[in-house]
Formats: sequence, structure tokens, C-alpha cells
Amino acid sequence: MRNLPFTRYSLTGSPISCPICGNAERTLISKYDRRFKILPHSKCDECALVRHEFMLSDEQLSEYYSKSYRSDYQWVNSGPTARHIKKRVLEANTRINKLKPYLKKCSKILDFGCGSGEFVELTQKLDALASGFEPGNLYASYARDQKGLDVQNCGWENYECKSKNDVVTAFHVFEHLTDPRTAFQKAISWLKSNGLIYIEVPNMANLLKLKGFGSLHMAHTIGFGRYSLELLGAYSGMVPLEIFDEFNIGIIFKKGQPRPLNEIKRNSLEEFNNLNFKQVNKRFWLYSTSKLFGKRSKV
Ligand SMILES: [Zn+2]
Repeated sequence: MRNLPFTRYSLTGSPISCPICGNAERTLISKYDRRFKILPHSKCDECALVRHEFMLSDEQLSEYYSKSYRSDYQWVNSGPTARHIKKRVLEANTRINKLKPYLKKCSKILDFGCGSGEFVELTQKLDALASGFEPGNLYASYARDQKGLDVQNCGWENYECKSKNDVVTAFHVFEHLTDPRTAFQKAISWLKSNGLIYIEVPNMANLLKLKGFGSLHMAHTIGFGRYSLELLGAYSGMVPLEIFDEFNIGIIFKKGQPRPLNEIKRNSLEEFNNLNFKQVNKRFWLYSTSKLFGKRSKV
């Protein structure tokens, strides 16, 4: 019953102001998610951040993650599969290579939402002092108990930082949050004075262009583009040191004087300019039809 199309999810949140720029005005871009379940999404009129029109509270999200998330998207009541680990190791290696030029000997790295710990494990091999935290019990216990990594089982609100870090990393975490600005500021509080923050998220502009509403789902409460991610850092006085503008968007942030916020917001609106309700629908059908006739995307 739970996965029937054209029905609502059992949990329904409330409209909110934009979690980055605070603006309440938004435009609906889709009524459905990738399963054809009713899950309206809007785009902020001021900064183009995509968000659930009815945002779940943190309590509701915890309920969703504990009851449905894994069976919806990931492992079903078990530890990580060999396939999952292989994929994560490849991703961790790619990210380490991007970060390497900025690492000193024995850099202290904290991985925010470290999952099953592959990034923490591989950075340790580079002589970095790596640790992490992860709210998912199965992921965290696998990383800590089976791999012996320094991983706390908690969310960012409860993480206890005992000593400051040179780098905080967060890979595919911020798109799951409801309060990314406070989380980003928390991450800064775990840094030494000239520390770096490396965030990677799916680029929602690229996803919407490729799959339309086929890229929207319950677990991703917000959707960033290249510029809305820059904007998130700008609100906390952090600027891009290096940008990896690939299908996903990754930014290594350092302390600095951000560009004027209005300029970044304008860039973000341009990035999402054509992604309106009509286009998001149309692109879903184009993508679905091309898949049906065997044209495979390279992504
Ligand atoms: Zn906004």
C-alpha cells in the first residue's frame, strides 16, 4: 500500500521559508516524486533552492529514516552489501584525490555523515587523523565495530567535537537536512581557524534537466545547484577554494569575503531558470521514454 502511486506519504509536513535565504516566496515545480507519489516540490523565488513544499519536522524525518528509508532506498535491515562498499570505496578515492592538494601531514579530518566509513578508513591510510559521525545505527556500528574506526553514532546536533579539525567533509549529506545553515555553522565550529569544509551534493539543476521529477524523492528535503551551495557557504563567511562542477557539485570552502549575496542568488536563479513545472514534467517523460526505447544515459 505504501508505494501506491498517486497517493500521499503517511507523513506530511508544513510549508516553510527557504532554509538558506529565508524567503517565503516559492514556485511549485512538481506535484509528484519519482514513484508518482504525491510529494510537491517548490523552487525558492529568491535563490532557486529546491525544497519539499511540505517540509517534515526533524522528528518526522527521524521516524521516516528509522521506519522506511532503508527499505525504500538502501539496505534492508542488514549491514552494507559488497556492492555498496565497492561503490563507496571508488567514490572515497575520487574525493580523496580532490582533497589531497590541501592536506598537510597528519591533517585532522572529520567526516560529517560518514555512512559505512569508507572515506574515514581511506584517509587514515594517508596518515590523516580521520574520524566521523553517522546517525544511521547500522552504518555507524559497521564502521565502528567491524572496521574499528573512530565513528560516533549521532546526528550533527548531538556530535561532540573533542578537538578541532583541519577539514570537515560532508558527502551527499546536506541534501537530507532541514536546517543546512545551522549545520554548516556547526561544521565551522569543529574547525581550526583556517580549516576547510568540503561539501558534495547532487546538483539538482543537472538532475532535473536529465530526469525531471524522476529525480525527486522523500529523502532529499532540499536540492542545491552550483550557486545555491556557494550561497550556503557565503552566509557563514566561507568562499569556494575549489569547485568541482561535475554532474554532482562539490565545493571546498575556506574562510573569506563572499561575493555579494544578490549576485550569487542571481546566478542561482539563472542556473534553474528553465526548470519550471512544465519543463520538469516534460523532462520526466522524455527521460522515461528514452529509457523505454533503450537509450541509456551516460550518467
Ligand atoms: Zn532561498
